[in-house]
Amino acid sequence: MLELKTPTEIEAMRVTGAFIADLLDDLTLQAKPGVNLLDLEHRARRLIDDRGAQSCYWDYSPSFGRGPFRNVICLSVNDAVLHGLPHDYVLRDSDLLTMDIAVSINGWVADSARSIIVGTPRPEDERLIEATERALVAGIAAARAGNRLGDISAAIGAVAADYGYPVNTEFGGHGLGRTMHEDPHVSNTGRAGRGLKLKPGLTLALEPWLARTTDKIVYDEDGWTIRSADGSRTAHSEHTIAITDGEPLVLTRQTVSTESVPV
Ligand code: MG
Ligand code: MG
Repeated sequence: MLELKTPTEIEAMRVTGAFIADLLDDLTLQAKPGVNLLDLEHRARRLIDDRGAQSCYWDYSPSFGRGPFRNVICLSVNDAVLHGLPHDYVLRDSDLLTMDIAVSINGWVADSARSIIVGTPRPEDERLIEATERALVAGIAAARAGNRLGDISAAIGAVAADYGYPVNTEFGGHGLGRTMHEDPHVSNTGRAGRGLKLKPGLTLALEPWLARTTDKIVYDEDGWTIRSADGSRTAHSEHTIAITDGEPLVLTRQTVSTESVPV
């Protein structure tokens, strides 16, 4: 079912989103060569507990996972892109780290992800991250009342195509609000002018993710961590947004605004 949110409910989601933005900023500063992924997981747990928030990932049990997810954040390194299980791994110089987190505060959820480079950047990684960030900005710009869902998907897919990266369509964005995953599914590529008509009050997590040289994925034996099938590096950018009568609202606003990235 598709639920439109009232302005008051969207404000509640913005409170959650601001907390997530701060949390990701904090973890971005922590993620340096020599830091263990488990340290980042434990720091996120403490900050979530201190805020009185609830993790949406803890005990998350979708059809594809192997048992409930007993962590609060997805940490995916290099060729891992989605649902990376925090584990005993020490970050190395030039690792590409994706952090994805969803929490609920007072019953309202927000969901955001970002990819960062740990230590010394590699130009091809910077370009890949830039592509997901620009695809996200383009998707947000298309998220206007009167447009259709396909306009968002097409805008995201067009940026990926401009950069020459293939797009996987098994995992994409989604509605959210009282729970982490609600209707509709938002594909990361599609045809403009098709699909659901966008209305004020619709809240979506838009989340372009890309692997450099493949649209195929493989799962680790843990049943969670999703990697590029060919081992190429990956990146992922996600914001929670609300469609309004005018400009879309970005509810998981970061300190460094993605608006500085040209569409
Ligand atoms: Mg997410
Ligand atoms: Mg999401």
